[in-house]
Amino acid sequence: MSPKQSQVDCIFCRIVAGEIPTKIIYRDEDVVVFPDIAPAAPVHLLVIPVKHIPSIAALTDADVPLVGKMVAAANRAAKARGLAGTGYRLVINNGAQAGQVVPHLHLHVLGGRPLTTMG
Ligand code: AMP
Repeated sequence: MSPKQSQVDCIFCRIVAGEIPTKIIYRDEDVVVFPDIAPAAPVHLLVIPVKHIPSIAALTDADVPLVGKMVAAANRAAKARGLAGTGYRLVINNGAQAGQVVPHLHLHVLGGRPLTTMG
């Protein structure tokens, strides 16, 4: 990853770089999947791009295929956790009022209990 794509003060870039320990569930050249440190459901995973993208609103046309890879990785991770039959939710928070606290694009994968509220 080039210095331009990595942010030294970004917690998720530091996870990508192996500087902050986590249990990596899946990684390839584009995406990394790991458990959320404060799970909101029995299964709560995060799917992030290796490339530092601050938010879904910062997405460029060139990044669009990357979001497809994130969703595909989320689907595989959910299936591996046994959620294919029961269902799961994919969430991307964008901006303060949506609850985004980490400014590195991430997809939440939530499941393992009924998810009833939308905000
Ligand atoms: P958001 O509120 O959408 O920005 O989500 C950020 C998520 O990152 C929260 O659910 C946090 O619990 C999670 N988080 C923050 N730091 C870590 C970490 N070191 N490892 C795993 N998850 C983290």
